[in-house]
Amino acid sequence: MVSPHILQVALPVPLPIIFDYLAPQAAPDIPEGSRVLVPFGRKKMVGVVVGKTGHSEVPAGRLLAVLDVLDGGEPLLDTKLIELLRWCWMYYKHAPGEVIASALPPALRRAKGSLPGCVLHYSLTGEGAERLKEPAGRAPVQFEMLGALAAGPLSGTLLMGIGSQWRKTLAALMDQGWVESLPAPADRPQISPGPNLKLDQQKAVDPILASRGGFSCHLLDGVTGSGKTEVYLHAIEKVISEGRQALVLVPEIGLTPQLLRRFRSRLGLEPAIIHSGLAAGERLDAWATARSGRAALVVGTRSALFTPMPRLGIIILDEEHDASFKQQDGFRYSARDIAVKRAAELDIPVILGSATPSLESLRNAVEGKYIWHRLRERATDAPLPAWRVLDMRQQSTFHGLSAIALEAIGEALEKGEQVMVFLNRRGYAPVLMCQQCGWHGSCERCDAHLTWHRSMGRLCCHHCGAQKPAPLLCPECRADALTGAGEGTQQLEEALEKRFPRFPVLRFDRDRTSRKGVMEQQLEQVRKGDPCLLVGTQMLAKGHHFPAVTLVVIVNIDQALYSADYRALERMGQMIQQVAGRAGRMEKTGTVILQTLHPDHAALELLLSQGYEVYARWLLQERQLAGLPPAGYQALLRAEAHDRSLAENFLDDAARAFPPGETRVYGPMPAIMERISGRSRMYLVVQGASRSALHRQVDHWLPGLRKLPSARKVRWAIDIDPQEL
Ligand code: ADP
Ligand code: ZN
Ligand code: ZN
Repeated sequence: MVSPHILQVALPVPLPIIFDYLAPQAAPDIPEGSRVLVPFGRKKMVGVVVGKTGHSEVPAGRLLAVLDVLDGGEPLLDTKLIELLRWCWMYYKHAPGEVIASALPPALRRAKGSLPGCVLHYSLTGEGAERLKEPAGRAPVQFEMLGALAAGPLSGTLLMGIGSQWRKTLAALMDQGWVESLPAPADRPQISPGPNLKLDQQKAVDPILASRGGFSCHLLDGVTGSGKTEVYLHAIEKVISEGRQALVLVPEIGLTPQLLRRFRSRLGLEPAIIHSGLAAGERLDAWATARSGRAALVVGTRSALFTPMPRLGIIILDEEHDASFKQQDGFRYSARDIAVKRAAELDIPVILGSATPSLESLRNAVEGKYIWHRLRERATDAPLPAWRVLDMRQQSTFHGLSAIALEAIGEALEKGEQVMVFLNRRGYAPVLMCQQCGWHGSCERCDAHLTWHRSMGRLCCHHCGAQKPAPLLCPECRADALTGAGEGTQQLEEALEKRFPRFPVLRFDRDRTSRKGVMEQQLEQVRKGDPCLLVGTQMLAKGHHFPAVTLVVIVNIDQALYSADYRALERMGQMIQQVAGRAGRMEKTGTVILQTLHPDHAALELLLSQGYEVYARWLLQERQLAGLPPAGYQALLRAEAHDRSLAENFLDDAARAFPPGETRVYGPMPAIMERISGRSRMYLVVQGASRSALHRQVDHWLPGLRKLPSARKVRWAIDIDPQEL
């Protein structure tokens, strides 16, 4: 028998290929998951071994050998994870090397990067403790760091906030012999008890805990404030106290400071945090602690899903309906779906939590594939908010706000309460236009208006990022007649400041909170509970608890009612429900005012009178009738080119080449927003009632597409289970 000495290596190139290399003679036994350095063309590249074989398609004489085995031959990814990633590249039909790369922190995608040695903790020496007894003297920052260490050893991450140069400060303290470093121990959680669970929370926790021996998927469907986080905490507590690890995925780390604080204080540990906003070194450290098993709890965004965790005991996805769990470019995967897959392969439970479950998860719950836990009351006994729909037809408005809404805002503020005004549009005005000739600012590269950011004096495209100075006179007719049409959050902020000068107005949108610390600072001010106005985009609808907010005004959601995207109504329902969920968290009843030009729209009426679940089930029925996901299955073949006809030609060729079977192909059609950054975007929809038939046909289809001459003139990609049209 020939021994399998040929290594199958995944390389980070956009090709649907795994490459064969000869194992080095000195070390023929390289395990799966190891990083290797290989020759590739004229370059060297880092790849990951994903298998072995005794036979290669490449003639023996032309097989190249691995140049080097990295990380001392220690495999970085375990076999289970490689298996999961293999499933991913087959299912999503994406280049294996790029799929594998997504499981490595960026620092390890290069040959230079290496697995950090042992993570260090820093602790006070006896002399350091003596030094602390003296006055701070001339090195207050050093003294502060010593003080921080007095309570016990800390990791570098926790020292980071001290002074502006914590590494230097730390080095100085170590030079003096006041601080020493030790290998970091595994997390030893110190759990503090939480509140006694309510009956429906207990009814969720019990079966989740009972299911620890194997795979099960739990849909934790609970309105905001119903105590879902408390359920997560109980599950995590149990899992980590047994020495296993927990993985929590959230939509956006920046929006979860409150959640992290709760994890820290209740579990008595520092979660390893993984997201794409981290510096390479920080991300590598967090990844390595998770991989070594020392981190009991890992919290991260979508990409943290692939973190190797040797003792993973539970996966939790918070806000599972959130669109950010689907990656929209490159390797277009659904972190939600893969989380369920990963749990199934590891035989562990997974919890999907949301106040507004996605139709996908709801359907699985209705069909009994997921265990459905409903929390319908608020854990604090706060009543659910009351709705008020304002018919905006023939209403005069003040910067988009009706007189009734303004009056209600004034009343709430006067009573010492907080008010939230929600508008999903940042900037000052969505359009700058000329009242004389009708000119309006539009992006040259996208099918979009330029948003007027008045304070910066600029026109910005929210799709491609293009910016230019806002003209003072009309570029077309030179009239001094430019004015903003419609409202953005900046305009609301300004208008509300004018109207309610005695109350602070805090704006929450990407423009405002991109500056470091602003988010935290504003949240802190809201937490104090004094009357104020919060103005913001969907950022306000995510994750936060605003107990003193008693009134929510939703300025305008009308675009969603008549969108060409069949998911628009689902998203609208989720957004309205999520925004409303922020109101009246304490003992006070909240009110939600919704301004619309379509107060009689059937969908809106159903949502407001029957609530999200009934609404979502109705949407599900509609999808069923149309054979649309999740009742049917879809893939998109996306193509883009500067010249629309090139994209169209390729898609026409592709449609003709689609293999016969029960899955059908429709199109080509333009994307809802056809032009972005100067490129025309078009797609074919592949749709059918059977997932396996769809995959079979698409698998037959793709190899031929790569050979089409028209394919070379476009950028194209396949998107399985697409979320955006
Ligand atoms: P969700 O995650 O569903 O929004 P949380 O778990 O954050 O809900 O709970 C909302 C509020 O209710 C929090 O302040 C939390 O501390 C409190 N809470 C949760 N469960 C209970 C309980 N069983 N008893 C008392 N208070 C609770
Ligand atoms: Zn003009
Ligand atoms: Zn643009």
